[in-house]
Amino acid sequence: MPIKALTPQVVARIAAGEVVERPASVVKELVENSLDAGATRISVEVGGGGVSLIKVTDNGAGIPSEEVELAFERYATSKIGGLDDLESISSLGFRGEALPSIAAVARVDMITCADGEKAGTYLSLEDGAIASRSTKGRSQGTTVAVLNLFRKIPARLKFLKSVATENSHIANVVSQYALAFPEVKFSLSIDGRVALRTAGSGKLLDSIAEVYGAEIAGNMIELKGEAAVPRVTGMVGLPKVSRSGRGYLSFFINRRWVNSRMLARAVEEAYHGLLMVGRHPVAVINISLPYQDMDVNIHPAKSELKFANERAVFSAVYRAVRQALAEQTPVPRVEAATKFVSPSEIREPSAPYAGVSSDLAPLPPTPATALPVLRVLGQLDNSYIIAEGPDGLYLIDQHAAHERILFEKIERQRAQREMEVQGLLEPMPLEVSPRQEAELWAHYQELAEFGFTIEPFGGKTFLVRAVPALLNDKDWTGMLRELLDSLSEGDKSNWAEAVISTMACHSAVRAGQALSDSEMRELVRQLEQAATPHTCPHGRPTMIHLSYGQLKRDFGRT
Ligand code: ADP
Ligand code: MG
Repeated sequence: MPIKALTPQVVARIAAGEVVERPASVVKELVENSLDAGATRISVEVGGGGVSLIKVTDNGAGIPSEEVELAFERYATSKIGGLDDLESISSLGFRGEALPSIAAVARVDMITCADGEKAGTYLSLEDGAIASRSTKGRSQGTTVAVLNLFRKIPARLKFLKSVATENSHIANVVSQYALAFPEVKFSLSIDGRVALRTAGSGKLLDSIAEVYGAEIAGNMIELKGEAAVPRVTGMVGLPKVSRSGRGYLSFFINRRWVNSRMLARAVEEAYHGLLMVGRHPVAVINISLPYQDMDVNIHPAKSELKFANERAVFSAVYRAVRQALAEQTPVPRVEAATKFVSPSEIREPSAPYAGVSSDLAPLPPTPATALPVLRVLGQLDNSYIIAEGPDGLYLIDQHAAHERILFEKIERQRAQREMEVQGLLEPMPLEVSPRQEAELWAHYQELAEFGFTIEPFGGKTFLVRAVPALLNDKDWTGMLRELLDSLSEGDKSNWAEAVISTMACHSAVRAGQALSDSEMRELVRQLEQAATPHTCPHGRPTMIHLSYGQLKRDFGRT
C-alpha cells in the first residue's frame, strides 16, 4: 500500500484507545471534568456495564453556548493556556482529549448551561461529528450522556470483561473520587440501583463509611498532616482491619487519584511488623505538593506521575503513617517461644489409617506425596506442631496444614453436592461496598453451592440466611467481604477455587492458637490423609522435615 495520511476519523479512533480503555475510563474523565468545573454535586448513572449508558450530571460551571463545539475538538481545553502552564497543572484535566476521544468511540449527548445563560445548549455527536444542536432548559451545570460505547469497535467490546466486572471498575472510580473529594455529594446508580451515595459533608470519615462501610470507618486513625512539603493527610486503618489485597490503598496527589507502587510500598513499610504476612492495610492518603514538583503529563490517562523528588515523598508518607500508628498501637508483645514436652507426656503413636475420623472418605495417598504415620510430640510457639515420623522430625505449620485439610474437604463436599450447611436462627444483614455489591450480584446464586444462602435486601444490604457449617462460629462476614474483594480485583477464571481457598483460610486454626494434644493428633491424622499434604492451597509448605540422616550429619556423627 502506498503511504498516505490517515483520515482524521481514523486518527481520532486510534488516539481514543489510549484515553478510553474501558467504560470506567469514561466515567473517570467525565467525573474529573465535573470536579474541574467546581461541581458540588455529581451523579453518575450507568447501564449495561457502562456500554449502553454512562450519564454524568453536575452542577458545575457549565460551558458557554459558543464554546460547546470547541470542547469536542482535539487539544481544546480551558484549563491551560501555554507551555508555562504545563509546568504546574492544578486541574485534573489539561490535555483536551477526553471529550473528543469519547465522541470517537460512542454517541455523546451533552446539555450544558453556563452562569448567566437563560437556556442550556444541547449537542449530540455521532462518530465524532455533530449530529444535532439545539437549546434546552436546564439549571447551571453539565450533563454528558455516553451511549453505545465501542459499538463500532467490536475488538474493544470483545476485550471487555463481564458486566459485573465493568460495574465494579466503575464503582471503584466513583468511590475513589468520593474519597478524594469528601465535600462533593456523589451518587452512583448502576442499572437503576443506588450503589453509592455520599453526603458531601467535607469529612473524610463520612466518605470512608459510605465507601468501605461502618466497620472500617470505626477503625481508622487520622494522619497528623503536619505543615510540610510534601504535606501528607488522610486516614489509615488500625492493623486489625487489614485486607488480603492492595485494593484498599488509595493515593491522591493534590487530590488526583494515582496508582503508585512506590506509595504503596511506603505505607506497607510503615506497617512493618504490625500485619501478618500477606495482609495489607487500609489507607486513604492525599499528598499535597507544589505543582512544579511533579509531572502528570506522562500518560494519557494521567493515572501515573513522576515526582521531582521521589525519595522525599516516600519518606514523608512513611513517617506520617508510622507516626500515626505508633501513637495508636501498643507495641506487640514478644511471646515466650517454646513449649517443651517432657518425655512422660509423649503420646502413643497416632492410629494408623484404619482409625481415621469418619467424616473423611479415605483417599489413597499417592506414594510421592504420602505422609508416613506421625506421632505428635508437642506444640511450638502455639503455631507449629512438632511430630516424629519413622524417618525424622516434622515441624508442621498448623494453620497451613489445616487449610490444606479443609480445602480438600470443601472441594469434595461441593463436588458431591453435600456441603454441610448451618441455617442462621435469624437472618443476618450483610452490608457491602459498591465494588463488593457488583460481585455479590454476579455470584450470590453460585455461592449457594458452597452453603451460603444470600438474598438481596435492598440498597447495599443483603440478607444471609445460612452459611457453610464449617464457618458457623467463624467470622464469615469478614470472609465474604474478603472473597468479594479478591474476586473484584483478581482473575476470575478460577472462581470456585478462590471461594474454596478463602473458606479454608477463614475456618482453619490460626497461628498463635493453643491446641490440645487430641486436637493436634486429629489434625495430623487428617493431614496424613490429605491428597497433597505438603503444601497449603496457596502453594506454601505446610511442614519442614528434618531427616535422621541430616541430623546425624549436622551433629557430625557418621
Ligand atoms: P480537558 O479536561 O483536558 O480540558 P476535555 O476534553 O475533558 O479536556 O474537556 C474539554 C473542555 O470542555 C474542558 O477544558 C472544559 O472547558 C469543558 N468541559 C468539559 N466537561 C465539562 C463540565 N462537566 N463542566 C464544564 N466544562 C466542561
Ligand atoms: Mg477532561
